[in-house]
Amino acid sequence: MNKLINNSENIHYAAELIKKGDIVVFPTETVYGIGANALDKVAVSKIFKIKERAKDNPLIVHISSKSMLNKLVKSYSKLEEKLMDAFWPGPFTIVLKKKQEVPYEVTAGLDTIGIRMPESKVAIELISTAGVPIAAPSANISGKPSGTRLEDIEEEFKDKQLYAIDGGCSNYGIESTVVTVKENEVIILRPGSITIEDISKICSNVKYDEKIFKKVSQIETVSSPGMKYKHYAPSIPGVLIKWEKDKDIIEKVIKEIKTKKDEKIIILASRESIETAKYNNYSNINKIFNMGSKNDLKEISRNIFHLLRKIDKEDATYYIVEGIEEKGLGISIINRIIRAVEYNVV
Ligand code: AMP
Ligand code: MG
Repeated sequence: MNKLINNSENIHYAAELIKKGDIVVFPTETVYGIGANALDKVAVSKIFKIKERAKDNPLIVHISSKSMLNKLVKSYSKLEEKLMDAFWPGPFTIVLKKKQEVPYEVTAGLDTIGIRMPESKVAIELISTAGVPIAAPSANISGKPSGTRLEDIEEEFKDKQLYAIDGGCSNYGIESTVVTVKENEVIILRPGSITIEDISKICSNVKYDEKIFKKVSQIETVSSPGMKYKHYAPSIPGVLIKWEKDKDIIEKVIKEIKTKKDEKIIILASRESIETAKYNNYSNINKIFNMGSKNDLKEISRNIFHLLRKIDKEDATYYIVEGIEEKGLGISIINRIIRAVEYNVV
């Protein structure tokens, strides 16, 4: 992988690559993306190949202006427009009816397209300089944690001929909120940094797709194909200790440590718990990773994918993630952790 420092000359160079049908890794405020011209099906197919991504998992298309939107979609309702105006640019993706010009390679055969206008300056400059919408999933091999810093991505794609713009650490650290509007109701297909509470301020009629919190089999029909796939997973097994009101989370974690006597354990815990719990006193604890303050969920969302990646670098056999309250951004973070531990929750 060839690293490009973030400057105007390199963004122009990357935009030229996109225009001629190559793929480029670039930063956004959510996670790093691996992008191609969304209107070039050959370029788009390169993304699926390098990521080993399932063919039925559609890509989000990134735009830099509303005029670009009109090249991709037939129409949108007043409510859909209100949502775009409220949350763009930002970590918010909306699913709309696609125009014929958008190749089915991008939408994985669907007649709808997920669109986002990022707020990252580098991303916006790249898209506007290329002059084309950029289809970009997260920059990671499918199934692995999304890339939120270039060192992590470099390791994953080290043998690939690929250019990447360095934009430092991703600000939000988890992928965008994905929504669709059906009969004037907003349905959240993937929770993200724009929360249900934020959307409720724009439209009182909003709910989660019921499959967000459930294990979905590969053959099930879902509104958002990404739900079906293994995601974010380290190579060793792990467990999420569920946060429960009126229950001491530290006690629950210690109980799990005691039942897993023969494992070499990594713990991901909040800064507050690490300071009080003394998890280090147990001989089967290999490492303790600080997720951030439980009072600053943005910090935890920025760190989570990097820490999930770090697990594989340690000599451990099992990991325990301390739960956080499932409210606001906490719901989106737990949604990622549940998939990382493959629904092993106690
Ligand atoms: P990723 O780019 O890896 O963050 O994943 C993008 C996710 O957005 C996909 O896995 C889908 O779940 C969702 N998505 C993208 N386009 C659509 C669409 N047209 N309809 C429903 N969900 C979509
Ligand atoms: Mg992804």
